[in-house]
Amino acid sequence: MVDIHSIEGNLPEKFFVSGASVCMPCSELYYQVCAIAEVAGFLWQRGWAERNGGNISVCVTDCISSSYKDRNPLKTVALPLTHPLTTIIGEYYYVTGTNRRMRDVAVNPMGNGAIIRVCKDGKSYDIIADEVIMPTSELVSHLEMHDFEQSNGRKQIKAVCHTHPTQLVALSHNPEMLKPDVMTRLLWSMIPETRVIVPHGIGIVPYRQPGTIELAAATIEQLAGHDVVLWEKHGCLAVGEDILETFDAIDTLAKSADIYLDCCTAGFKPQGIAPDMLEGLVELFHLN
Ligand SMILES: [Zn+2]
Repeated sequence: MVDIHSIEGNLPEKFFVSGASVCMPCSELYYQVCAIAEVAGFLWQRGWAERNGGNISVCVTDCISSSYKDRNPLKTVALPLTHPLTTIIGEYYYVTGTNRRMRDVAVNPMGNGAIIRVCKDGKSYDIIADEVIMPTSELVSHLEMHDFEQSNGRKQIKAVCHTHPTQLVALSHNPEMLKPDVMTRLLWSMIPETRVIVPHGIGIVPYRQPGTIELAAATIEQLAGHDVVLWEKHGCLAVGEDILETFDAIDTLAKSADIYLDCCTAGFKPQGIAPDMLEGLVELFHLN
């Protein structure tokens, strides 16, 4: 669950579309949406969310009041899936809207995203609040990832974040970095935090067209063994228990990439933390 105290005081006083919003101030949903707004602002400030770049989805089923759960949909939309979703039927998600800017999500999350419910057929969804804002074009990828995590017993995974971290995308333009584990080992060796905060490393997905089933399938394959997945020449995607956790993982990897690139700019190859020292962190922090 989102740590309320970490986000209080950082938000604009008024960012909901109307007094009739599903997102009532001080409700559980309110704090979830506040955290989403905060992360959207971070993504923009970092320069990782040009125009409408990036998207977010967070499972909010536990935060939706019963009166809203039973509401008739504002709109029902078919999903272009090859197989129906199975595990997340009836679940509710906040999803950022298609063609919406992260900097706008940061100040008005309910005016730039929607609450959706996965329909019983597993092949469509209802938009239930606040307005008919069509979800991100990556919705299929997001829902398939939530379905995958839930069906694999990782019930605590509630958030998916996709963004375009400049330094990680830059590294993905080097074919050497795309070889198995090369980028993970490099980024782990820049600062000890990366080994601890991203213990399963970064999975690589070779270039696929955005918004396609192929990209979703390749991402799910990599998620099985990694914390964050890098899409070659595009961006990265993280899953986590809440939206802040997904940001922290990407932010930590980006920090390591910055250090590596700064060393290269200064004219030397960084030595990196020795492998036995990295191994020592596994024991020290009980990483598995
Ligand atoms: Zn993208």
